[in-house]
Amino acid sequence: MAASRDPAEVCIVGVTKYVGPELALQLAQAGCRILGENRPQSLWSKHEYFQAHAAEDTQWHMIGHLQRNKLRRTLPLLDCLHSLDSLRLAEAISHEATAVARVLPVLVEVNFTQDSSKTGLPPSALPAFVEQVRQLPGLRIEGLMAMASQDGSEAQTRREFEQVRQARDELQQAYSGELTLSQLSMGMSGDFRQAVAAGATLVRIGSSLWEGVLAAA
Ligand SMILES: *Cc1c(COP(=O)(O)O)cnc(C)c1O
Repeated sequence: MAASRDPAEVCIVGVTKYVGPELALQLAQAGCRILGENRPQSLWSKHEYFQAHAAEDTQWHMIGHLQRNKLRRTLPLLDCLHSLDSLRLAEAISHEATAVARVLPVLVEVNFTQDSSKTGLPPSALPAFVEQVRQLPGLRIEGLMAMASQDGSEAQTRREFEQVRQARDELQQAYSGELTLSQLSMGMSGDFRQAVAAGATLVRIGSSLWEGVLAAA
């Protein structure tokens, strides 16, 4: 591999937000075991369709904003939340998850871009946030998630992803023996190469999976 990474270390999250449940199921049947959605309602309907088709070995990852009022219904369907970026949400997850004796794997979304429209915590807030969240029962921080600047050059994108990895490495060092921050969710269709080179373990690929399919539809 160009990035000198073991391919087994990098998993594809197939982002299904562009398609209905039928095509999402075809992707799962083709071997994509982890699917990502950015809206709770779409996750609910696809999950239901998958259950009806006995496709229950799919893992569902929430990659977009999760509203607290959608949490109770979403939590039982979720294998991982990539987009944790507020203490209020963390506390709500803790409350709901402990009530059903679950521990939800979460990634903390961080924003290293200059793009104020982007979601995610500012890097300066990350250490205090992790310190607070790690004390909550019912969720377990497994790493970080990030998006690169919209119009960044390849070099800038790579630099931003390197910053995410560095932030993860620093946290891992601070919490060695307490947290296992093995996941870095970064990279999409347009920039997964830079992300993998910088250490991504989960790449969230949407449009390039569906290009041919949607053009034909
Ligand atoms: C849509 C989306 C993706 C996939 O992006 P593509 O450019 O379509 O590959 C990845 N991450 C998040 C958070 C998304 O909303």
